[in-house]
Amino acid sequence: MSIEKFMALIVHKYGGTSMGSTERIQNVARRVAKWHRAGHRMVVVPSAMSGETNRLLGLAKEITETPDPRELDQIAATGEQVSVGLLALALQKQGVKARSYTGWQVPVRTNSAYTKARIESIDEKRVLGDLDAGYVVVITGFQGLDDQGSVTTLGRGGSDTSAVAIAAALKAEECLIYTDVDGVYTTDPRVEPEARRLAKITFEEMLEMASLGSKVLQIRSVEFAGKYRVRTRVLSSLTDPEVNLEQEAQSGTLITYEDDETMEQAVISGIAFNRDEAKITVAGVPDRPGIASKILGPVAAANIDVDMIIQNASHDGMTDFSFTVHRNELQKALAVLSDKVQPEIQARDISSDGQICKVSVVGIGMRSHVGVASQMFETLAAEGINIQMISTSEIKISVVIADKYMELAVRSLHKAFGLADESHAA
Ligand code: ADP
Ligand code: ASP
Ligand code: MG
Repeated sequence: MSIEKFMALIVHKYGGTSMGSTERIQNVARRVAKWHRAGHRMVVVPSAMSGETNRLLGLAKEITETPDPRELDQIAATGEQVSVGLLALALQKQGVKARSYTGWQVPVRTNSAYTKARIESIDEKRVLGDLDAGYVVVITGFQGLDDQGSVTTLGRGGSDTSAVAIAAALKAEECLIYTDVDGVYTTDPRVEPEARRLAKITFEEMLEMASLGSKVLQIRSVEFAGKYRVRTRVLSSLTDPEVNLEQEAQSGTLITYEDDETMEQAVISGIAFNRDEAKITVAGVPDRPGIASKILGPVAAANIDVDMIIQNASHDGMTDFSFTVHRNELQKALAVLSDKVQPEIQARDISSDGQICKVSVVGIGMRSHVGVASQMFETLAAEGINIQMISTSEIKISVVIADKYMELAVRSLHKAFGLADESHAA
C-alpha cells in the first residue's frame, strides 16, 4: 500500500466530535505525531469543536432571523481557527514542530457564495515550504477567502471538502477522514444498529450516498475525490491513538475508483435518508404545455434548488404539481410562488408539507439487476408506508414518505435487501 512509502504526504481530517475537548485534541495530536514519527509529511485539517458551529450560528440568530451571509461566515469561521491553534499547541507538546493556518492565510481561494462557497484554488507554496522544514501543518477546515478579501465558508460539513481539496492540491498519497464512526456503513448505524461497515465503496456509490443524505462525507468532498482521484479513506478517530500504524492505515472504508471484481456482489450497497426536504404542491393548474416551466422557472431564478418533481395525471384538463426543496428554503419558495407564479397560473391551491423525508437505496449492482424497485415498493407497502414521490437513476431509487416512518422504512429495507448479512460487508 502506498503509505508504506517513507515520507509520503498524508492529509488527516478530524471532525467535530474528534476535536470535542482538549483531551480529544491531545489524542488527535498523539495520532498525528505517530504518523509524523513514522516519517510521513503530515497536513491536518480539523473541524470546529463539536457543537461550536451551531453555537456560533445560534448567536447570529439571536440578533436577527435573516443574517447577512457574509457576516455569518465571518462568525462561523472562528470555530475552526480555535481548533487549529489548539491542535498546533497539542502537537508541540508532543515534541512535534507544528504550525497552524486559517483558510485565508494559506490561502484557500473560493467564490463569493457565502455559507456555501466553492473552492477554486489552493496556494500550496507556504504549506510545502513548512513541510520541507519538518513542520506538521494544521489548516482550518470549512473556510476560505474570496477575491474581495472576505472570509467564506463551504457549507455544513465542509471540512471534509477542505481536506480532500488540500490533498488534491498537494498531490497527497492519501486523505484519511477520521470521524466518530469507524467507516462508511450500509446505512447510518445510529438509525439501524444492524448496519455493517463496508471495507470498500465505489466512488459512484459514495457520491450517491452523500448526495442523498449520508452526512458521513460532504458531497463536494466526494466530487473532489473523484475529479482528482484522491485516495480517500473514512476511519475512526476514537481508537487508541497509539494503535499500530499499519493496522490503522488499512482500517475503515476505502473509496475505490474502478469496478473491482473482488468487491462484494450485493445489488444494493447502502441506504441513505434525508430529512432536510419539504414538499410543495400546486393544485388545480391547467394541464397544458409550459406549465412546469411557469412554476419552476421563477423558483430556479430565485436560486432555489428543486429536487424531486411529480405531475399527476390530469382530470378535466387540470392537474396537480408537486416538488421538493430544501427545508431551509421552503418559505422563500412559497413566497416566490405566491408573488410570481400564482398571479400567472391561478392555481386552486398552494400547500406545503415539511413532515416528509426521502429514503434511497443505492448500488451499482442495480445496473445489471431488475426488480429492485418492486422489492423496495413491496417492502414499504408491507409496512403500510405510503409512497408520495419516486425518482430513479441508474444506481439509486429514492422515495418520499412521511417523516414519522423514516426509521421503520430504513430498517425494513435494510433487512429486505440483506444488508445485515455477514457475507455482505467488511
Ligand atoms: P464529523 O464531525 O467527523 O465530520 P459527521 O457527524 O459529519 O462527523 O459524520 C459522521 C456521522 O455520519 C456518523 O456519526 C453517522 O451518524 C453519520 N452517518 C450517516 N450515514 C452514514 C453511513 N452510511 N455510514 C457511516 N456513518 C453515517
Ligand atoms: N464546523 C463545520 C460544521 O459544523 C464544518 C464541519 O464540521 O465539517 O458544519
Ligand atoms: Mg462531517
